[in-house]
Amino acid sequence: MVRRQIQGKGIKDPRVLDAMGRVPREKFVLAKDLRETYADSPLPIECEQTISQPYMVSLMTECLQLKGQEKVLEIGTGSGYQTAILCLLSKMVYSIEKHQELNARAATILQELGFENVRLKVGDGTKGWPEHAPYDGIMVTAGAPEIPQLLIDQLAIGGRLVIPVGDLYTQVLKRLVRSENGCEVEDVCGCRFVPLVGECGWKA
Ligand code: SAH
Repeated sequence: MVRRQIQGKGIKDPRVLDAMGRVPREKFVLAKDLRETYADSPLPIECEQTISQPYMVSLMTECLQLKGQEKVLEIGTGSGYQTAILCLLSKMVYSIEKHQELNARAATILQELGFENVRLKVGDGTKGWPEHAPYDGIMVTAGAPEIPQLLIDQLAIGGRLVIPVGDLYTQVLKRLVRSENGCEVEDVCGCRFVPLVGECGWKA
């Protein structure tokens, strides 16, 4: 999967490629979808949510340019698969999930796999997790109508934020870098995510 679907589509960061090869995706997908585990497509999980496509996971991770010492915030824990990749590539990961059931399932799997540099909580991630800010990287894995200002405020100077922004059906993956003088935003690619539902996202 890593060579064909990830490296083959242009992901170059050797640390990202290594992490993608080390996290067993089969632990995070539903038992009925095991045969699809290493296809490069999103798959359904509980609560009508999805585990992201491996290529998208690696692309979003590469956008954060992690070297290993960073504090990272993830919004939308979902299955916990992306969380595991972030754990391998940074110092500490904070991840927020709206659905209690998904949070509990992800916590169990991450613990079984031995990840210790992670804190999970149930809540509305559109407001971030101010207690642990500033973050060197913030990753939002659900589609937002716009970039929540509260997340930008929790980004360190030099920090990177990746987030899909658009309507409820299609979005553009945006990468924002915060500097002393403001923010620079670039478009990475088109994408399709489940909606980010919360106070600074889509209304339920
Ligand atoms: N990275 C996950 C993607 C899960 S899909 C994976 O690969 O498994 C996106 C997740 O964002 C869903 O689990 C959804 O419940 C969650 N979500 C949506 N709005 C949210 C919010 N405001 N705060 C936290 N999580 C949210």
